[in-house]
Amino acid sequence: MDRDPVCGMIAKEEFKYEFKGKIFYFCSNLCKNEFRNSPDKYLKRSRRSEGIEKIKERKIAYFSMEIGIDSSIPTYSGGLGILAGDFIKSCADLKVPLVAVTLLYEKGYFIQRLDAQGNQQELSVQWNPKDFLKPLLKKVNIKIENRAVFIRAWQYDVVGVSGYSIPIFFLDTDLEENSEYDKGLNDFLYGGDQWYRLLQEIVLGIGGVRMLHSLGYTGIKKYHMNEGHAAFLTLELLNEMKINKDPKLDFEAVRELCVFTTHTPVPAGHDHFPYDLVNNAFGNPSLREREFIPSDILKMLGGEDRLNMTLLALNLSKHINGVAKKHGEVSKLMFPRYSIESITNGIYSSTWVCDSFKRLFDKYIPDWKNDPFSLRYVLSIPKDEIWNAHQEAKNKLINYVNKKTGVDIDSETLTIGFARRAAAYKRADLVFSDVGRLIKIAKDAGKVQFIFSGKAHPQDWAGKELIKKIIITSERLKGRINVVYLEDYNMELAKILVSGVDLWLNTPRKPQEASGTSGMKAAHNGVPSLSILDGWWIEGCIEDITGWSIGSSPGVESNDQQDANSLYDKLEFDIIPTFYVGREYWINIMRHVIAINASFFNTHRMVQQYVLNAY
Ligand SMILES: *Cc1c(COP(=O)(O)O)cnc(C)c1O
Repeated sequence: MDRDPVCGMIAKEEFKYEFKGKIFYFCSNLCKNEFRNSPDKYLKRSRRSEGIEKIKERKIAYFSMEIGIDSSIPTYSGGLGILAGDFIKSCADLKVPLVAVTLLYEKGYFIQRLDAQGNQQELSVQWNPKDFLKPLLKKVNIKIENRAVFIRAWQYDVVGVSGYSIPIFFLDTDLEENSEYDKGLNDFLYGGDQWYRLLQEIVLGIGGVRMLHSLGYTGIKKYHMNEGHAAFLTLELLNEMKINKDPKLDFEAVRELCVFTTHTPVPAGHDHFPYDLVNNAFGNPSLREREFIPSDILKMLGGEDRLNMTLLALNLSKHINGVAKKHGEVSKLMFPRYSIESITNGIYSSTWVCDSFKRLFDKYIPDWKNDPFSLRYVLSIPKDEIWNAHQEAKNKLINYVNKKTGVDIDSETLTIGFARRAAAYKRADLVFSDVGRLIKIAKDAGKVQFIFSGKAHPQDWAGKELIKKIIITSERLKGRINVVYLEDYNMELAKILVSGVDLWLNTPRKPQEASGTSGMKAAHNGVPSLSILDGWWIEGCIEDITGWSIGSSPGVESNDQQDANSLYDKLEFDIIPTFYVGREYWINIMRHVIAINASFFNTHRMVQQYVLNAY
């Protein structure tokens, strides 16, 4: 059957319309009427389809609730979005025929301001999508509560080293046709209530598939859900298949099409919605233009009590993976009925290597950007050049901090960085469990200073308390240990931090860190980690060679007291002495961090694994 010339979905015999002697088929009365009102617009468009062959070559559609490409495009909140952006950048370099879909957040996540007591204020972001993205003419619509919600897309092309580009489509409902509420559906990332979030996910999953088809992407062989937020796309595919073939729902055919990456190792982290909300959203069955998935089947796919987006994705994906080896195992325990593999995360090397190390790598390993595996040859770069590159990055950080905060930190002191989402399980305050011991260590073993950063989710009160606690502690330590908390953690600041500190600290409660990526960014700049054995660090830690571990072995549950003691021991007996007394050995560690970890924990390796194992 033909595609609807208005929205690109599969057309139906019953919605036909004759115009200038030619018969056109549509998916619904809605599109038919749209065509009738302005046929020229759609006829012109179909003549402009020379590029269509190229479009049809795209085989993989990547869906993510957030994508972070650059600080200036504030459509991300943290790890998940930046991972998506890094992944797409490597796909562009490696010419993977992919397109990406996300939402356009007109007011971003939020800008963080902190007062002297550490109270977080959330300001909405002012940015102009027109400055970065190209608005497209195509519109599609979805039915929510029996009304049509129209969606358009903005395009951003990520261009790879050899010129191959990957389009990202940012979906947007801020259109005149829509109600005031619907216009605001993509104002905020992770803002609003459950209903708001549900509608956002419907726009992403169902609207996203429709938009791709409408834009001519009809050759898609895999739909990759980066986390469960996009799982509604499975329902759209089920419906499409049904229209396409026989009226039976073809679960196997949809499973064949779908790839699911889960990112959350704790049940509370998975999105779920009450069925009455879901049913309201999908509207009155008797008014539906095409029958929605019957509720008994939806319950079979998404869970009895609530619609669990992770379950929905699990049930309709053939390939499922976690984001580190350990996380794959933990996910398997959580969902024993499914076959779950793991592909460990990475980061996009060129984005995260600072200028001074870029110059150094360019000099000794000219092809490192195309071939990050070759970073293993960093072992042969002279130590003094490694140190100088690091000191340059460190000075940049120190200047930044001193200018921003007025605190006078210096570039000779061992500088420890901790920056990530301020969530309770990340235990940013673990290092301050015993302030007395910390002061003593700094006095006896050698000076240390700390730089913190990170936003708390607007509704995460425990996370906000954590920020206050760090800031109050920094006051208490004044004059003895310098501690600063930098406002508004984003990609730009992250790069200054991960490259400028001497040591990257991470203290999550096991097994809650699915992967973690900031330690990989640090590794690309020769900065070793001191971290709990969880997530990627289980794979990345070689004690005394790529950094240090804190606390018990991976399988054992975390104990705050023991972890804090272990952290202090490592600082006192291994790290501080090596940094001040064994400087040669320290620089050797820096080389091994790059050679062993940067050469592996990058998105080029990760993308190749997805292509081989998942697509
Ligand atoms: C890398 C990054 C993150 C994720 O870091 P994790 O170690 O995975 O928590 C979050 N926010 C920003 C701004 C980042 O650059």
